[in-house]
Amino acid sequence: STPVVNFCALSKAATTGLLVKGGDYLEILAKVKTVAFDKTGTITRGEFVVTNFQVISDDVSLNALLYWVSSTESKSIHPMAAALVEYGRLHSIEPKFENVEDFQNFPGEGVSGKIDGKDIYIGNRRIRLRAGCAAEIEFQNMEGKTNGHIYCGATLVGTFSLSDTCRSGAMEAVEEIKSLGIKCVMLTGDNHAAAMLAQDQLGHALDVVHAELLPEDKARIIEVYKKEGPTVMIGDGINDALALAAADIGISMGISGSALAKETGHVILMSNNIQKIPLAIKLARRTLRKLI
Ligand code: ADP
Ligand code: MG
Repeated sequence: STPVVNFCALSKAATTGLLVKGGDYLEILAKVKTVAFDKTGTITRGEFVVTNFQVISDDVSLNALLYWVSSTESKSIHPMAAALVEYGRLHSIEPKFENVEDFQNFPGEGVSGKIDGKDIYIGNRRIRLRAGCAAEIEFQNMEGKTNGHIYCGATLVGTFSLSDTCRSGAMEAVEEIKSLGIKCVMLTGDNHAAAMLAQDQLGHALDVVHAELLPEDKARIIEVYKKEGPTVMIGDGINDALALAAADIGISMGISGSALAKETGHVILMSNNIQKIPLAIKLARRTLRKLI
């Protein structure tokens, strides 16, 4: 190979906001068959707003529930957590970080903690089993929202919904990648309806939408796409570090990406502008043509 061309291409990529670690990735990028996007924080802004918060137990007050939820979530780095803390503040409830014991994060499911002597579990429908609730409950889910359930011990005591919106330029980025003959898919831990709402906002640009995934499911699906050809995964590092590592190239969103993604991602997207990705693919193809 000709290191000079390689070097130029890399520095050009860096100036467009993509930091490529090592030259091997140029060829993979040029020949990529599938680009897989994480949803929350990648396709969407990861800036949630609480649209509904309901107590569903006569034994619990709204203020107590807000206090338990915002305090427990104040220990989580998930974008949903910030919105729930903010929602508490709107109701004059200050979270008490220090009053939460035994905090646990269940990637792709939710969180738990002990506060006021109570075991609080917050998350999607999977969290029911963590809370030890045996009964299947029919939920009135808000269509297209990210829905959450709150358990006190094994008892369901509340529900909430949040909404998030796609990043500007996300649709254009997906369309541009597709115009290069590359398959675009989404991998999300969120529910099907929320995933499909994002797909609607993208003008149905995605070829496949995979929802309700655990972090290990995302990695397993990446392995399946890899059988068809080079696969790139783009994520924010929250619950997708395994998938970023499994992909031929993992691209982590720069600024809001967690430290873990920065270590696992082979390429760091310096800005959150996913429109840099089709640009990088075109650059890699051009560079490779020069090399041959
Ligand atoms: P995505 O794959 O779209 O980026 P995540 O994997 O980050 O989504 O999260 C998947 C799901 O796990 C969320 O939609 C939510 O239901 C649940 N979840 C994750 N973290 C939390 C949290 N801190 N509190 C409540 N629920 C959570
Ligand atoms: Mg995410």
